[in-house]
Amino acid sequence: MEIAPAPAPETVSLEAKSPFEMRVHLGEGVPETDVRTALKTGDLGFLHSFTTGSAVDGPGLRLVAWTTACMFRCQYCHNPDTWTLKNGIPVPLNRAIEEVQKYANGLISMRGGFTLSGGEPLMQDRFAARLFAAVKKMGVHTAIETNGWYGERLTDDEIRNIDLVILDMKAFTRAQHELVTGVAKAFANGVGVDWKEFFAGLDVRRVDLPTYAFQRQRYWSDLQAGTRTVKAFGNTDHPLINAVVELPDTGGVVLTGRLAVDTRVLSELPFHTPTASA
Ligand code: SF4
Repeated sequence: MEIAPAPAPETVSLEAKSPFEMRVHLGEGVPETDVRTALKTGDLGFLHSFTTGSAVDGPGLRLVAWTTACMFRCQYCHNPDTWTLKNGIPVPLNRAIEEVQKYANGLISMRGGFTLSGGEPLMQDRFAARLFAAVKKMGVHTAIETNGWYGERLTDDEIRNIDLVILDMKAFTRAQHELVTGVAKAFANGVGVDWKEFFAGLDVRRVDLPTYAFQRQRYWSDLQAGTRTVKAFGNTDHPLINAVVELPDTGGVVLTGRLAVDTRVLSELPFHTPTASA
């Protein structure tokens, strides 16, 4: 099978078509020396994509930038295509700042903000620190999603530019981390683990993780293409009421009708003479 070459990074949209769009090899043309300089200065970042309108990556509606590179390989990772630095589009810092600036007013007015996620954003700590500083100056709420491993790479001043740290911490110590993730890996590969026994004596409890918004179910009406009338919301036999919509919270209903000059019922009303201005 022939594998198509990756498109040139400058032709790839910063925004992914969907959260499941696989993006790989997009930064492979960047020479190693430039990669090293980028990591040292933060002039260039490697980003999988931007997502607009996220409701699960911090308070309010978020603009999310997904960095590439992560030192972990969690079995439950949603974004394994962000594990490798060079899967990301090389994005100059200024371009990333401009991208956030485009949405700044909307994010502020909707009490949302900007989230840097990944991958592990602190694998590109200079880019992350400089981007947060610029976004903070815009007055936009800032958040980072991190596994915390490289927390010490940021200075206290740099951390002050981050309003919210969403920490996905695996364990308090390296040894504990290796034990927990190692056993979890064995479990994910089919080895039976007595979790009660494993956590005996520790102050831990099971928590339900948040699911996808609406669990991929649709909860709105199916509008057919080309539909122009309220009849799409449910026909009735009543001559004036075209649609009935049930209210899920109260059990009541909203009745909707459309009166216009060309409405047959209107023209048949004995007391009403329709005109063009009716
Ligand atoms: S730390 Fe996060 S990004 Fe990295 S592998 Fe684990 S879940 Fe994925």
